[in-house]
Amino acid sequence: MKMKRFLAGLTVAAALTVPFQAFAGEGSVVTGDEALKKLLEGNARFMKDDKEYVNWGDARRKELTKGQNPFAIILSCSDSRVPPEHVFDQELGDLFVVRVAGNVADPIELGSVEYAAEHLNVPLVMVMGHRSCGAVKATVAGGKPEGNIAAIVKKITPAVNSAKKRAKDKEAVLDAAIEDNAILTAKTLTEKSEILKHLVESGKVKIVSAVYDLATGKVDVLDSGEEKKEGKGHEHKH
Ligand SMILES: [Zn+2]
Repeated sequence: MKMKRFLAGLTVAAALTVPFQAFAGEGSVVTGDEALKKLLEGNARFMKDDKEYVNWGDARRKELTKGQNPFAIILSCSDSRVPPEHVFDQELGDLFVVRVAGNVADPIELGSVEYAAEHLNVPLVMVMGHRSCGAVKATVAGGKPEGNIAAIVKKITPAVNSAKKRAKDKEAVLDAAIEDNAILTAKTLTEKSEILKHLVESGKVKIVSAVYDLATGKVDVLDSGEEKKEGKGHEHKH
């Protein structure tokens, strides 16, 4: 399986007439599990303030003009405090990042994820929410947001509704809504995209949801995608 995927990557590389060297860098990952491990190892370095990729070098930038080979897709919030490359301490060209306020998924975001999963053969998608998310806060607060912000609030509303069922005070509702929003967006990826559904079912792509804590810098995986196969629903893993 691993070799098969690896070879599939080579075929794509050959088709694009990109030298293999550009793709054979140290730490190449092939499976979703390997990609998740690499992300969480990077997050551990970030938390300890022991970052490997503080400065992205010229050599890497130049090497990447030949093509890109990211190992993970991160769908995260636009919040300035949540930059995935730093949070996961990864190198230039390692992460394919889709950022949108409230980490929601409409056709544009879905298309972006589809592109990286299908055409760049990225084996992992992580939907990452974060504590103190303003978009989720606004949705919990209710009322009528101005302009196009209403479209984001509308997308987050189902998560707030489900959070209210399992949390009592306002703070708990916000935290639960942030978690449910990441989980529901992850579900949307396969519900609204035939391409992603097929890639997940064929074992080529793994989708997980997670929450980033602003204070500790830690990323907790909420749903590693395994529960879905066992039909257990939304149980959180910490
Ligand atoms: Zn946010």
